[in-house]
Amino acid sequence: MSHTPTRPTFLLDGQPIPFEPGQTVMQAAQAAGVYIPHLCHHADFEPIGSCKVCSVRIQGRVATSCTWPASEGLVVESETPALNHDRQRLVQMLFVEGQHHCPFCEKSGNCHLQAVGYHLGMQDTHFVHERPRHRLDASHPDVMLDRARCILCELCVRASREVDGKSVFAIGGRGLNSELIVNSPSGLLADSAVAATDRALSVCPTGALLPKRVGFAIPIGQRHYDGADITQRPEDT
Ligand code: SF4
Repeated sequence: MSHTPTRPTFLLDGQPIPFEPGQTVMQAAQAAGVYIPHLCHHADFEPIGSCKVCSVRIQGRVATSCTWPASEGLVVESETPALNHDRQRLVQMLFVEGQHHCPFCEKSGNCHLQAVGYHLGMQDTHFVHERPRHRLDASHPDVMLDRARCILCELCVRASREVDGKSVFAIGGRGLNSELIVNSPSGLLADSAVAATDRALSVCPTGALLPKRVGFAIPIGQRHYDGADITQRPEDT
């Protein structure tokens, strides 16, 4: 009589999570249907651990779950008041560093940043709005880039390089001066290789990169996160 070998497990908030060797804590949690808040992580792409929203406490130390390898017997805490407080502060910082006016944004209802904010119970932006100037790029006939909505998650950078095979995007500058830059002679989308059908656009978690002329194709109320918490609809793009 044959039997399936028992998979190794770790504990996430007291729940045993089975994993395959090589999986991260985030990947194993997602496979088990357990939600850990995140922004720069996407199942289709290599993790970079930059947004820190998926930080969990592992054996007493804080680490990004998207990059931490799962291992037998690990004790991981995620849904704690302290961690969710810090996650909310990170999301609030993103809101004040950019300009995220959800009621006026075509991505509202489909926006991962907005959905994570709702999930964390964010009622205000807490910090003083910086309102920095962000360069808008409307030069392309079919694609627009509003850097005021960009959270520097690098998903478009990874998608353009790995899926579209174009490497249209990169992050330039340092610290608060970091911004998404475009690989073209002028630095504008108009003479880059980008196309509205690129994975780089569909994977953008906010309204920073959008195809033109498709406003309200999906009515408000019928969008991905409308009427349901992100834990019920985790994979969105
Ligand atoms: Fe992320 Fe979108 Fe900004 Fe690209 S444009 S870094 S996908 S938020």
